[in-house]
Amino acid sequence: MGQAIVLDGKRVGAEIRQAVGREVEAYLSAHGRRPGLAVVLVGNDPASEIYVRNKRRACEDAHMHSVQRRLPETATTDDVVAVVRALNQDPQIHGILVQLPVPRHVDSRRVLAELSPDKDVDGLTETNLGRLAAGQAGLRPCTPMGVLAILDRYDIPLSGRRAVVVGRSRLVGLPLALLLMARDATVTVVHSRTADPVRVVRDAEIVAVAAGRPQMVTREWIRPGAAVVDVGINRTPQGLVGDVEAGVAEVAGYLTPVPGGVGPMTIAGLLRNTWQAFLAQEADRT
Ligand code: NAD
Repeated sequence: MGQAIVLDGKRVGAEIRQAVGREVEAYLSAHGRRPGLAVVLVGNDPASEIYVRNKRRACEDAHMHSVQRRLPETATTDDVVAVVRALNQDPQIHGILVQLPVPRHVDSRRVLAELSPDKDVDGLTETNLGRLAAGQAGLRPCTPMGVLAILDRYDIPLSGRRAVVVGRSRLVGLPLALLLMARDATVTVVHSRTADPVRVVRDAEIVAVAAGRPQMVTREWIRPGAAVVDVGINRTPQGLVGDVEAGVAEVAGYLTPVPGGVGPMTIAGLLRNTWQAFLAQEADRT
């Protein structure tokens, strides 16, 4: 085998962001209104600070209104809920994102339960996950959407193909498995209790890894020619690494880099969701 084709999330993400930005600009000049995204950040997690800054910048580049609500590490669940309730009512805000993880003493379930499903641009509320599971329209989680968008951009077919998702989290693995199934892939989910994960993954034509385990997936796991999407972002003493080891590039047909793969696609997904949420709320106004 040669070298896998790089699934360039940085480039594809930028294309999507620019396309959304053009739509926002056109709408703004025609109607004088634009989408607003609020990011709620509790505490001082350094990785979250970077994510929030990047999201804010992307929002502004796409001509959207962007606000940040910062709460101290000592904020209570009630404090966060109060902020979310105020944003639910704010007509300038069409998307709300509560940056996870929140400090341990904050009950993230209760916070998410307060979030208006119409403004839930992370697709994390029970309502939106339920809509996804039931095959109804709704806001989908950004990272899984980004995974599908990059596979689509490189014309990698999904229908009828064997896809394995490694990880079953509410944020990534579970919704990704549902989205792939909705696109007619034959989906298997591998998780921390799976017996012989290598055998299962090796059978797949499409592999998406979201385990949060640095370089866990090695070349032996991968079927030659498979499309491999590495969702993992792990901070190690050697720097930022994914869940997939570099040697996989010699076996796979396609591979996302880390960084520059799924990360920028997630931000692009967030902008798309904010635009979608805005249009739905505009339609409700009239
Ligand atoms: P999580 O810890 O909530 O879930 C990890 C999942 O992996 C669990 O379902 C678990 O069963 C499974 N798992 C753990 N060890 C395993 C093993 N040895 N074999 C098989 N499965 C195993 O994590 P998450 O929130 O889903 O995130 C996963 C990774 O993706 C993390 O590295 C995170 O930083 C990254 N992430 C990246 C983006 C992005 O924009 N690129 C977005 C979200 C998360």
